[in-house]
Amino acid sequence: MKIRFLGTRANTDLSSSYHSKHSGVLIDDALLFDLGEREFLETNPYVIFITHLHPDHAFFVLDDVDVNIEIPLYAPEEYEEAFARVMPDEIDVEGHHVASIPTIHSKLVKSTAYLIESDARVLYTGDLVWIEKEYHDTFGELDLVITDGSFIREGGFVMSDGESVWGHNGIGRLVDLFSDYTDHIIFTHLGSWFYEDPRDARKKLQSLSDSVRVEAAYDGKEVNVDS
Ligand SMILES: [Zn+2]
Ligand SMILES: [Zn+2]
Repeated sequence: MKIRFLGTRANTDLSSSYHSKHSGVLIDDALLFDLGEREFLETNPYVIFITHLHPDHAFFVLDDVDVNIEIPLYAPEEYEEAFARVMPDEIDVEGHHVASIPTIHSKLVKSTAYLIESDARVLYTGDLVWIEKEYHDTFGELDLVITDGSFIREGGFVMSDGESVWGHNGIGRLVDLFSDYTDHIIFTHLGSWFYEDPRDARKKLQSLSDSVRVEAAYDGKEVNVDS
């Protein structure tokens, strides 16, 4: 499975030359996960999967953009424009099996992770507080997890009103969550903590685990994954 990171910047004003674009991950030149920038359409994906309808993952939700996307586009919930379809539990497309796994992230929009299976098994989460325990069995053995690098500080940025929980967990907790299922985690959607000294930030990520390879994505990074 060939994975190309098109954009790796979180919803922050900070950026750097290798982290200037919002979320997008292209798999095998055919499946695009998140559409944080209009220009990602130029890669001519066969199908698009959106983790949630926040503008850094779905640029078209901004009020001032005029867009009609002709490529099949799935999202976790309905969207007023006709081009968006509600993601079913699973779908087979272009030689890949793609399954939706609900995630906890926002109070206002639904969110989902995607488990992509072909010659490898990869989980892409989008923004993330947590995944309910009842879904952990579906992870199986993952060759790679791509997840939310918004906050490195302990606890991340998690809000609660007693009924729901929303925000982004800290990177350390996400490493704990996934390290039973994989030995390779790539953080994307890099938050403001990353930009002061990206080299130091990369080192921090690498030092988080002895057993799991933890690294940061950058715009244009390519990885080949097999099982
Ligand atoms: Zn979000
Ligand atoms: Zn985001």
